[in-house]
Amino acid sequence: MSVLILAEIDNGAIKKSSLEAIYYGSEVAKMKGTTATALVIGSASAGDLAAAGNFGAAKVLHANDARLAQGNIMAYADVLVSAIQHESSDVVVLAKSSLGDAVAARVSGKLKASIVSNVTELPDLSGGFKVKRSIYTGKAFAHVEMKGDCKILAIKKNAVLVSEGTATANVEVFSPALNDASFGVKVTGTHKASSSISLPEADLVVSAGRGLKGPENWGIVEDLANALGAATACSKPVSDLDWRPHHEHVGQTGIKVAPNLYIACGISGAIQHLAGVNSSKVIVVINKDPEAPFFKAADYGIVGDVFEVLPKLTKAIQALK
Ligand SMILES: Cc1cc2nc3c(=O)[nH]c(=O)nc-3n(C[C@H](O)[C@H](O)[C@H](O)COP(=O)(O)OP(=O)(O)OC[C@H]3O[C@@H](n4cnc5c(N)ncnc54)[C@H](O)[C@@H]3O)c2cc1C
Repeated sequence: MSVLILAEIDNGAIKKSSLEAIYYGSEVAKMKGTTATALVIGSASAGDLAAAGNFGAAKVLHANDARLAQGNIMAYADVLVSAIQHESSDVVVLAKSSLGDAVAARVSGKLKASIVSNVTELPDLSGGFKVKRSIYTGKAFAHVEMKGDCKILAIKKNAVLVSEGTATANVEVFSPALNDASFGVKVTGTHKASSSISLPEADLVVSAGRGLKGPENWGIVEDLANALGAATACSKPVSDLDWRPHHEHVGQTGIKVAPNLYIACGISGAIQHLAGVNSSKVIVVINKDPEAPFFKAADYGIVGDVFEVLPKLTKAIQALK
């Protein structure tokens, strides 16, 4: 009865958020006195699959049917159900993501499994199975008890402090029977965001708002992001105005990020923006208006003009490096 972790891949490698989920799952397995198995769907190198062992997986089930290459949610759910049955798993862990949430909900429906999303800590197994989850876009926590034979946990970024080991996992080919019904929706193509650093996965994010005045001024934002090795993001009006691509829009109606460092440049800090960024570990706000609401959510604030502050900050970081 191993703990099963669904690990997502990107460009043939297990995503960082999924490595965190594997570590989380392996810690739960230790608490339950069992082992952790990672399910990887799609093409990945043998080395990357075995490296799941560094994060605590004893075994990797590798489902590499060519039809699964496009992240088909219905098929993923069927593969995950088969893997749960194959491993007789009573706990399933995955990283919270748009794909993970959709797959988890389907699996919960198929198996009548209890499901909790936005989990922020390891569960408390003393007298039941209790988990802490983030609610109201990060403004509060709920403590919930999970019941039932199978429990599915979608974990938030930074739910556990990962420590990487040197073990390798045994990799097994996993080929569950899939029928046409699993492929009721066909992905005809995917268009990848151009940024080299994936925003939802990024540890460092430099984000800018309407205070930048226009798309022609984004060079100073990109320079700072490049100096730090950060992803770039923006407020909603900025993407609505087509100053930046929509996949960079963060907030209540955009991408939710939880980096170690979020630098907000010329963003007022409206509640809808904060809803997508308030799980960041450290928030730095640069705004010329000392009364800007974002300063209330900031760990560090610089009252100043972005056109003066950003080039100086970039220079200082380049000098440090
Ligand atoms: C239903 C709904 C959903 C929404 N969802 C989102 C969402 O997901 N994400 C989101 O971001 N917004 C969202 N919004 C919009 C949100 O309410 C704000 O309008 C938006 O976040 C403001 O964007 P901004 O801070 O870039 O622009 P502004 O509010 O115009 O703020 C610009 C800031 O830049 C500062 N500034 C100006 N010039 C400079 C300078 N030279 N140097 C330094 N600072 C300067 C100003 O002091 C100001 O604080 C939503 C709104 C609604 C109603």
